[in-house]
Amino acid sequence: MINKEDLSFDQNRIWHPYTSLSNPLPTYPVASADGVRLKLADGKELIDGMSSWWTTIHGYNVPELNQAAKDQLKKMAHVMFGGITHEPAIKLCQKLVKITPEGLEKVFLADSGSVSVEVAMKMAIQYQHAKGQSQKSKFMTIRNGYHGDTTGAMSVCDPEGGMHHLFAEFLPKHFFVDQPQKRFEESYENEELAQLEQFFRLNSDKCAAFILEPVVQGAGGMWFYSPDYLKKIRQLCDAHDILLIADEIATGFGRTGKLFACEHAEVTPDIMCVGKALTGGYMTLAATLTTQHVAETVCNGEAGVFMHGPTFMGNPLACAIANKSLELLFTSNWQDKVSAIEKQLKQELIPLANSLSVKDVRVLGAIGVVEMKGTVDVPKAQKFFVEKGVWIRPFRNLIYIMPPYIIEKGDLHRITTAITNYIV
Ligand code: PMP
Repeated sequence: MINKEDLSFDQNRIWHPYTSLSNPLPTYPVASADGVRLKLADGKELIDGMSSWWTTIHGYNVPELNQAAKDQLKKMAHVMFGGITHEPAIKLCQKLVKITPEGLEKVFLADSGSVSVEVAMKMAIQYQHAKGQSQKSKFMTIRNGYHGDTTGAMSVCDPEGGMHHLFAEFLPKHFFVDQPQKRFEESYENEELAQLEQFFRLNSDKCAAFILEPVVQGAGGMWFYSPDYLKKIRQLCDAHDILLIADEIATGFGRTGKLFACEHAEVTPDIMCVGKALTGGYMTLAATLTTQHVAETVCNGEAGVFMHGPTFMGNPLACAIANKSLELLFTSNWQDKVSAIEKQLKQELIPLANSLSVKDVRVLGAIGVVEMKGTVDVPKAQKFFVEKGVWIRPFRNLIYIMPPYIIEKGDLHRITTAITNYIV
């Protein structure tokens, strides 16, 4: 049981993501969760619109995932990965190689999305170094991107959203190109990509790789851009001898309607990061995949090895759950579910674009975004949504949802109705 003192301790002593301890915002104690419902400590139930930040694609308290965890616990929760291997990790890496875009064959298991991005960046640096191109030590990326909160990842996040000025003395400096303006459903003519070509001409000789979130920019602004742009970047990376890193941490495992967002552009990156939904939201686990060519070049370089190895690498419990989560995904008609969610979100959210306070509405796969003209008062909006029995956590001027794929029509309707009621 959580009492008042516990809550006060929480408010004053425990940092939540991006929060102040001097001016704490309300937090809602959750006692348990089941299906698409979060159960608050006071007994109230909320329909989850967030999938706990893109992770719980099968919902909460999933019997198959619970069982996989229990079965693995009886064997071992953890064992070091240095000099040791185990079935859950091998099976998971086999699956990842099979389901990710053709050509990605080698796997590094990381403990969080941010770490998998650090790993990807270090891989690119080691690759260029091994090719005798150690001057290629910077990165190119797109403004309004988000790749995680650790230092390397942060240095390629949007300079404003990532507060680069605050960390200016600390963060390495990289090269940022403007966000693509064409929407997901629009196409690019070649001449419109002249700025991108110029950007490559100016900077690629100093860069190891171009890192981006394919098609959907998530925490940096929930923007869905034209797959043509991604295709063009793939061509330019090849022409300028730099690697393409695709951060599929948010988009991976079906969220955008394709298993991986790179598939919208039929592109294989040289390095790809996955995380978040990998374990169905049960455990923290991520992976960085790369090609035979990159792995071989890295391992033939000066170090002779890839220089990374976290303590909890390949955690067996997380891998066992990830194996089961992928099995569930592939036996679940996920495409039908995601496209039903997409259809309903389009029907129920797009009319909001006519509202005076709304700047734009966009829907892709199981992601719905209402971009407001002004900043959303998050505590006020959250309180409103909780009163309506739904869990939605806006940020900046964005009210966005990405529900578990198992959500039923009526529950999703309650979420979109709550958003509509908040806005109009
Ligand atoms: N990349 C992207 C695209 C993300 O959305 C996130 C998390 N929001 C990360 C990287 C970082 O992942 P993690 O929070 O697991 O470190």
